Amino acid sequence: MRVDLAIVGGGFAGSLLASIARRIGLSVVLIDRGAHPRMAIGESSTPAGNMVLAALGQRYALPELIHLARYGTWKEHFPEMGVGPKRGFSYFAHQPGSPWSPGTKHANELLVAASRDALNCDTHWFRSDVDAFLFELAGAQGALLMPRTVVIQVERVGGCWQLGVEGAESLGGPGFGNAAVSTPPFGARAAATRIEARLLVDATGSGDFATRHLDVTAGPPMRTRTSAAFAHFEDLPTWQASVGSPDDDYPIPADQAAQHHVTPDGWMWQLRFDSGRTSVGIVGPRIGEFAPADWLRRYPTLERQFADAKRVWPSRGWSGSGPLQRRVDRAGGAGWILLPAAAGFVDPLHSTGIAHSLTAIERLARLLEAGVEDFSDAGAATLRELDHIDAMVAPCYAAKDFEAFIVASMVYFAASIHVERLRMSEVASRMPDFLGADVPALRQLAIRAGDEVNGPGFREWMARAIEPWNTAGLLDPEVPNMYPHTAPPGW
Ligand SMILES: Cc1cc2nc3c(=O)[nH]c(=O)nc-3n(C[C@H](O)[C@H](O)[C@H](O)COP(=O)(O)OP(=O)(O)OC[C@H]3O[C@@H](n4cnc5c(N)ncnc54)[C@H](O)[C@@H]3O)c2cc1C
Repeated sequence: MRVDLAIVGGGFAGSLLASIARRIGLSVVLIDRGAHPRMAIGESSTPAGNMVLAALGQRYALPELIHLARYGTWKEHFPEMGVGPKRGFSYFAHQPGSPWSPGTKHANELLVAASRDALNCDTHWFRSDVDAFLFELAGAQGALLMPRTVVIQVERVGGCWQLGVEGAESLGGPGFGNAAVSTPPFGARAAATRIEARLLVDATGSGDFATRHLDVTAGPPMRTRTSAAFAHFEDLPTWQASVGSPDDDYPIPADQAAQHHVTPDGWMWQLRFDSGRTSVGIVGPRIGEFAPADWLRRYPTLERQFADAKRVWPSRGWSGSGPLQRRVDRAGGAGWILLPAAAGFVDPLHSTGIAHSLTAIERLARLLEAGVEDFSDAGAATLRELDHIDAMVAPCYAAKDFEAFIVASMVYFAASIHVERLRMSEVASRMPDFLGADVPALRQLAIRAGDEVNGPGFREWMARAIEPWNTAGLLDPEVPNMYPHTAPPGW
């Protein structure tokens, strides 16, 4: 069969790109070695990501994406699809052996509200549902779906990709519009062993497709060095119920947020879904040294919170990651490109994965619209963005205490404000790179934060350094660690 675009990897990113490419008018095959529904990690969206999602929905007439971009419209249009409200970021500092209690002037807390109200807010994606929905949407848009299919051979012949695939089971969408393709009726199964494509996208996430099949090798090591353990729980009491702390001056409820419990041994995320499930993960440079139960035992308030919680995934133990950081040396060239999660990964801190993928999909979609087929620059932009995320995250792990951690995190919030304001501004002439990776001053800020992080006057230095972007009163001594709304007006 012959198609314009072969996408290998049918997670949320590959599937979304497949729908968009169909709207642009390309014939698309979407290949995945697995099948939906299946569990996936990476569940916390952000305003920067949801702004892109809504913009993609508008531009390519995919109303489903607009509905998924805010919690309220998601619940209204897709009540069956797993989701939870995310109104911002909350952080609580713990010390080993000590029960948590509120400090003076919120010294051991940080709450950053990203959305103005409970309906117009971001979301926690129950990925099993979302990824399956987007895969099916790609089929409904006319992409040829090939689940349970492994690519065994990739060759570039005469400017075209030749893919040899095995175990093919194709589900052809109704609008699959390329005369050169034999299109099975929707839902039919047909064997296919050879695919010819002008363009190839690697959307395999942490798969090793690119290093096995493309002219790609491992790139330089990252500054951040962490690993993670993660699982889903039911019957986990909310943090606020666990500590009974008053939230009178919290800008958002602490549990309707990407919740972080920050310790000297790394940090824990808690992301709540409306179904009663909570996604939980522990991340840090030394996480591999602790069994999760031993880690919890070091922090009495967390241990108490988890006392009656039931792990519902995985069925045995927590899922462990090994070292999280990876990055390739090239992420695009003539006729091929890697989406961000295939090009590399830094760390769950700052919830960058979904938004970065969406940013790169939008960039690639514009190139596809314009008929551009050399993706060298787009691939280089993705790698620059990964390096920028790395520069932003590493100082948070280097921070000697919670105060330094908070201050180091301000680089991320300043960069988010920059991107979100630009996206909302009518004068924006082009799409900004992810987290301002195209702005030298922001790249420098992240790198300098790594030099300054544990020095005297770090807070004062940071307050001055983020001034050009700081429309949210970040580090204002009058509102210690409580920030009511960082996203721009109108979002
Ligand atoms: C521990 C952890 C926590 C994270 N937390 C967050 C977070 O809070 N917020 C956030 O935004 N991001 C987070 N991320 C990042 C997020 O997981 C990724 O950005 C996101 O999953 C990428 O989606 P994707 O569709 O590109 O890849 P994936 O979801 O990995 O999908 C890849 C697909 O490709 C298929 N595949 C793989 N190899 C092959 C092959 N050789 N041939 C065919 N198919 C193949 C797989 O079956 C899969 O369906 C986290 C990541 C990790 C590791």
